[in-house]
Amino acid sequence: MSTQKPASTPSIDESLYSTQTRLIYGKSLSSQWDFSHHVIPPLTTSSSFRLGSAERGAQGFFEVGRSSDEAPIYIYDRLGEPTGNMLQDALATAEGGEIAVTFASGMAAISGALLAVVKAGDEIIAHDTLYGCTYSLLTNWLSRLGCTVIFADLSDPETLPSLITEKTRVVYLESPVNPTLTMIDPRAISAVLRSENEKRSPEKKILSIFDNTFATPFGQRPLQHGIDIVVHSLTKGICGFGTELGGAVITSKELYSSLCLVRKDFGGILSPASAWHILVYGLSTLALRLPQQQRNALEVAQFLENHPAVESVCYPGLESFPQRQLAHEVLRDFDGNFAPGFVLYFRLGGDNPRARGERLMNYIANYAYCITLAVSLGQLRTLIEHPASMTHSAYLPNDPRGHNLDAGGIRLAVGLERAADIIRDLEVSLAAIG
Ligand code: PLP
Repeated sequence: MSTQKPASTPSIDESLYSTQTRLIYGKSLSSQWDFSHHVIPPLTTSSSFRLGSAERGAQGFFEVGRSSDEAPIYIYDRLGEPTGNMLQDALATAEGGEIAVTFASGMAAISGALLAVVKAGDEIIAHDTLYGCTYSLLTNWLSRLGCTVIFADLSDPETLPSLITEKTRVVYLESPVNPTLTMIDPRAISAVLRSENEKRSPEKKILSIFDNTFATPFGQRPLQHGIDIVVHSLTKGICGFGTELGGAVITSKELYSSLCLVRKDFGGILSPASAWHILVYGLSTLALRLPQQQRNALEVAQFLENHPAVESVCYPGLESFPQRQLAHEVLRDFDGNFAPGFVLYFRLGGDNPRARGERLMNYIANYAYCITLAVSLGQLRTLIEHPASMTHSAYLPNDPRGHNLDAGGIRLAVGLERAADIIRDLEVSLAAIG
């Protein structure tokens, strides 16, 4: 593998080009691979790499996660490999971050980000509604490792300052929140931490970790608002086709080495085949897929909002969205247009909305053509699910946390079909359940 610049390649300033175009081309010259022969990035299929000398092998082990600017020494896939590294470069471009490290899944990325920065005795302040497995990770596992987790409503900017103690090390949140779509202002969180961190030594600084899975980097780039670490489930909108599991952490160069070491020792690596699909098909088509999904989501949200059987609809693109101004300020695509996303959360009316919601989903599971009862989101197909019994079942019924999480709430992740077809299935299904 050569990392030499081919003689015929002039130097190119990629920053002059739009993010959309750069997600197709990647770096014009990458230290990860020689692009002089490949139009499409190569998929490497070797789990280990030939080493020219024992010294080089030793250097590679010693320098796992060495500066992301230098050409890596490849040894063994768990320590890093070229296809995943090219995806990392592209993800850093998409989020406007210095570096990215990929993981086997969104949960592996979230675990990796937390393990890279916390130790026993530290406190983590987390928003009280999170993806169910993240909530379970914090309550069941981080507490076992000796960390204290404090849950609070971080959508209220007044909440955070009073919770910070000497031991606080991380503020953790996702926004828009899965599944309620509540928004938390990244600027407000960063402002509180900036003034608190001014008083602290570097090793005591509080870091913010922001799960940007729902918006994707197309719709929101929290690092630009002062957030320290962005995490993603690549499984969702970034992969986009529902074919791969993956995760990523995007942050500054200082954390690159720790993240690579955590990944090496806990072993949650992304397979090169998944990295290749996400890089070649997923990320490069993100800016093409998302606008269509958003147009569909808005039409579907408006239909549901006007339907007599529906009590409430939460979607950042609706006039009625409670945090409309915040949504308009931070949910912006690569070109600065409003990007309300493709997920909506709604609740049926009546005495027992949960039972009616279950009837609706069972009807859809059996009779709908273009809405599928399934977890996950951000795929070609529209997916419907019941968070309280599925993705968010880690929250017990009547858990005081799980702010705004409604036992009858239904999550609809809108896909790339024609909006009218999705609406047809919803109309028929709502009529059928009475
Ligand atoms: N974060 C959010 C907001 C999610 O919705 C999910 C999964 O649904 C995850 C993280 C976990 O991702 P993965 O399933 O890829 O581990």
